[in-house]
Amino acid sequence: MSSSEQNTLDILFEHSLDLLCIAGIDGRFRRLSQSWTQQLGWSKDELLSKSSTDMIHPEDRGPTVDALKRLINGKRVIDFENRYLSKTGQYHWLQWRAYIEPNDPTAIFAIARDITQTKQREIRASNDISLLEMAEQTARVGHWRLDTANGHLEWSNEVFNIYGRKANKANITLDDFIDAFSSQDRKKLWSLIQNAVQNGTQIEAELNLIRQDGEQRIVVVRAICERSETNAVKSLFGIIQDVTQERQSQSNLHSKEELLSMAFRATSDGIWDWDLRTDQMWYSPQWKKQLGYADDEINNEFDSWMELIFEEDRLKAMDAIDAHIRNETDRYEMVQRFRHKDGQTIFILTRAFAIRDKTGRAIRMVGAHTDITELKRLEQAKSEFTSIVSHELRTPLTAIHGAIGLLHGHYSDGLPDQVQSLIMLANNNSKRLILLVNDILDMEKLQFGRMDFDLREIALSEFLPLAIENHLSYAKTFNVTLSYDHEADDLSIIGDSNRLMQVMSNLLSNAIKFSKEGDRVKIQANATEGQVSISVIDTGSGIASNMREKIFDKFVQVDSSDQRNIGGTGLGLAISKAMIENMAGSISLTSELEKGSTFTVILPQA
Ligand code: ADP
Repeated sequence: MSSSEQNTLDILFEHSLDLLCIAGIDGRFRRLSQSWTQQLGWSKDELLSKSSTDMIHPEDRGPTVDALKRLINGKRVIDFENRYLSKTGQYHWLQWRAYIEPNDPTAIFAIARDITQTKQREIRASNDISLLEMAEQTARVGHWRLDTANGHLEWSNEVFNIYGRKANKANITLDDFIDAFSSQDRKKLWSLIQNAVQNGTQIEAELNLIRQDGEQRIVVVRAICERSETNAVKSLFGIIQDVTQERQSQSNLHSKEELLSMAFRATSDGIWDWDLRTDQMWYSPQWKKQLGYADDEINNEFDSWMELIFEEDRLKAMDAIDAHIRNETDRYEMVQRFRHKDGQTIFILTRAFAIRDKTGRAIRMVGAHTDITELKRLEQAKSEFTSIVSHELRTPLTAIHGAIGLLHGHYSDGLPDQVQSLIMLANNNSKRLILLVNDILDMEKLQFGRMDFDLREIALSEFLPLAIENHLSYAKTFNVTLSYDHEADDLSIIGDSNRLMQVMSNLLSNAIKFSKEGDRVKIQANATEGQVSISVIDTGSGIASNMREKIFDKFVQVDSSDQRNIGGTGLGLAISKAMIENMAGSISLTSELEKGSTFTVILPQA
């Protein structure tokens, strides 16, 4: 190197704004420009005593060493970037160009430029972009920009997502953008874009997009115009938003609400809806109409119900509601009396369910009110009618039966056989009629709570033998024997002895009727946990499983054709059940076809 060249180099090393250096291939600096100290804060001696690789950010060391290797291995010039430690402890981004002189491959000449600020701007921008992308993805909104001068279109990644396409920003055209819409919407969008470009108008449209796989999406496209200094439209900046989900749930909601309101209008039932979390109550207009009020005459609050329901029913209702809220009952159902606006009593059958959250806690209760006032009135009328007719029937019937009985018992001897059998027929049938009328009267009384019960202590040691004695002659006609095990002789129960005797008569006569000749009907009694069970056991025909629940209903007979021979009204068990329940007891049945039946009455022990 000539001395003038040396001089120029010295000047460069003295005044360069860039960082100049000469280093050995071992990475040690040989010469450094003044700018190193100015920009990184190290003194020259400090820098010369350090290995340059120690100053490089650990993440950048590897790539820097690789770059230098390429240089040593024959590449003359290399470019790379790394972070360099400054005296303050911060790293500076340096952009390097290094050169190796083939004649002297032991020295590396390098120039670096501090690009920290540019780098930071770049990082911020890329952070901003990824933030924007995340925001767009979350909101399902993509953005696009159309350069009106050259028709160049840019899309954000989310637009590709909305279009159901892989991101490929290089090849996007305005045609791609528009062709994805349904044919009708394509025309619409074209004219909106043309209008915007020519007149600077904004774009806002809801359009049907058809993805390549045929899936349809509903999107909102919006755009504004960016103008140049000459006020010409330079570009369109727009967004595209996928609103398919929102529209679908909206339309579901609409159709559900419509359906519900149609159902409310169509039904004559009144509906109520109680939000247990907010205590908000809603009554349908029909609910209010049932009680004679217009929609605006009753406030949608819990107190309105409290004021209209009968006091006695209100307390029962509250208990039943509480039990249902606590999940102790399957549903809330009861008949309640309400005061109509005109003062009349309205009978309402109310049925409701609680809606529960995942933990089972009731959060809402929805119910229906059915007006059964008319039904109640008819029931009442029917009951009055039956009881009047039955009473009117019973007196003459008893007289007829008495007369025929006399005729049959005392005056039929010597009469022709044919007449005697006719008298017998009349006697049996009048007896049946009396039984029927009595049963009907009992049933009516029980149903309307008009039967009184005189509950007292009953000693089984007296009661059961009497029940058996009463049926001995009946059993004899069927050639059936009766027995009672005296183990329960010290037991007593609480009940109405006359009514209980009626129940025992029914059970015993059934057991006898349905036994086979030579069978034995047994009565057994046991005490458990403050209760006494009395069972009437037969080994007769038994009852099929499908009939076992039903036979406690009114007028049910397993085989009604059979009954004409055997007799009975089909009311006996219904009456027995109602009577036992009135004595705080229960009645149940176990049975097997052709093997026999056991009817068990359970009553409180005295
Ligand atoms: P009924 O007056 O007709 O006997 P119930 O209500 O007492 O009416 O009985 C209803 C029906 O139940 C009977 O008709 C009969 O079919 C059946 N049933 C009752 N008890 C027995 C029994 N011990 N064995 C078989 N069937 C029985």
